[in-house]
Amino acid sequence: MTQFKAILAAQAIRPVLPELLDPETAAEIDRKLQTLITQTETGQTLNNQITEILCEHETTQTWMRRYLKGETPADITRSIVNLAGNMDAQPREPTYRCPECNATKAEPSNGRTPKCDAHPHATLQRISP
Ligand SMILES: [Zn+2]
Repeated sequence: MTQFKAILAAQAIRPVLPELLDPETAAEIDRKLQTLITQTETGQTLNNQITEILCEHETTQTWMRRYLKGETPADITRSIVNLAGNMDAQPREPTYRCPECNATKAEPSNGRTPKCDAHPHATLQRISP
């Protein structure tokens, strides 16, 4: 990545860091990026450092990759935040355990209790959630 692009990405991502990361991490990364951007203004080459910081976290890495592909910052942020939100909201599948061999099976909540492959006669016990 060229320095020019690295700085552009860093400047574009700074305002949305609080949406992508927990507040403490966001503040820390924002501070680091600010320092690096200031240093590049004095002619230093720091695109590797900027890239490294943005690659420390999966959300910022994904954000940067999509930004460099030409997507608009608002779209990227919205889709990343929505994705994370949807994963949280997804109900966990109930898990069952075979009393004979302790094998566990996850089954979508469709009202049916799954059967153990090795012990089809056994009644599996629901262990979670
Ligand atoms: Zn079994």
